[in-house]
Amino acid sequence: MKAVVYQGPRDVAVTDVPDAKIERPTDVLVRVTTTNICGSDLHMYEGRTSFEVGRTFGHENMGEVVEIGSGVEKVKVGDRVVLPFNISCGFCKNCERGLTNYCLTTQPDPSAAGAAYGFAEMGPYGGGQAELLRVPFGDHNALRLGEDAEEKENDYVMLSDIFPTGYHATEMAGVIPGDSVVIAGAGPVGLMAALSATIKGAAKVMVVDRHPDRLALAEQIGAIAIDDSKVDPVQAVLDQTMGLGADRGCECVGYQAHDPQGNEDPAATLNMLINSVRFTGGIGTVGVFVPQDPGAKGELAKQGKAAIDFGTHWFKGQTMGNGQAPVKRYNRRLRDLIAAGKAKPSWIVSHEISLDQAADAYRNFDSRSKGWTKVVIKP
Ligand code: NAD
Ligand code: ZN
Repeated sequence: MKAVVYQGPRDVAVTDVPDAKIERPTDVLVRVTTTNICGSDLHMYEGRTSFEVGRTFGHENMGEVVEIGSGVEKVKVGDRVVLPFNISCGFCKNCERGLTNYCLTTQPDPSAAGAAYGFAEMGPYGGGQAELLRVPFGDHNALRLGEDAEEKENDYVMLSDIFPTGYHATEMAGVIPGDSVVIAGAGPVGLMAALSATIKGAAKVMVVDRHPDRLALAEQIGAIAIDDSKVDPVQAVLDQTMGLGADRGCECVGYQAHDPQGNEDPAATLNMLINSVRFTGGIGTVGVFVPQDPGAKGELAKQGKAAIDFGTHWFKGQTMGNGQAPVKRYNRRLRDLIAAGKAKPSWIVSHEISLDQAADAYRNFDSRSKGWTKVVIKP
């Protein structure tokens, strides 16, 4: 089958790889119909991780079931399904508590938790930027879609990751009706956090970034755009909240955050939120931060360190929730909002491409070329 394969830093190619196949009785095999490029793929694409040359990308996947293992009872051949990026078992100590983002069964490293398709440090699983995808524990992981699956494909595919991830940021921040919410980042994840806050009845949603095209997408759903290359975002949030600060903050950027001068500063967004969220307010951090690698040199040695103003965070009595999103906790209800026409996450899709165009798309998405917000691939 054809797949998008990692060749080295900033180098992907579409090559022939062995077909994905059923390996265990609980597996389901999916013919991928849509698979997205995600900001998370860029950590690997840019060579910041231990992702091995030859591995296939793709953790935001949906498709049609073409084969099921002998132990699969619920999912049927022909079903249209969307797959959470988290690969989980449903029965380990963490999954039992709904923490499918930290599954202990599907992560082979006993000192770690959490697995995903086509991801460094998250198990050996193949990615879905390919013609076929093996889905472990298919009955548990595959979310079935209704008759409108094909018609709303670009909406439903967002259930694999970014829509539940944005929603998780608002959950960890504690957004309730009437809240004011500041969101760091107008990338796909930040825009989904803005959509989620709106769905939850936030009175005011403010989105901080510096890319006018992305900020315009935030404005399209009624959010207030704050361009941090032009104004101080903390002051802008205070001005919007009668000097009090926002009730909630969502971090949707991660360690590649830039300071106001445009230099990389992993603490930039966290400090912006600590300073712009009010006393006793909540912050949800879904942007990725990575463990420190003691052996790393040069630029990589900075990773893992974020010099946050913990004193201010503590003094203000704020709460903060962090980590990967447990997609399964939210994808069913978000699916039903899409089905009912009450959420349309596809408004952020900027490019629809074939597998063969993936290398160009990675280059443009990585350089945040104007207008390249969300790329969906149709294998
Ligand atoms: P992206 O890189 O497309 O978007 C990030 C945006 O942040 C960019 O538009 C950039 O201009 C902006 N930005 C940079 N510095 C900023 C600052 N100081 N203030 C405000 N905005 C700033 O990425 P994405 O696809 O939207 O993903 C965002 C993050 O979420 C990534 O770290 C990604 O890995 C992570 N993510 C986490 C999960 C999870 O489960 N927790 C899931 C998906 C993605
Ligand atoms: Zn993703």
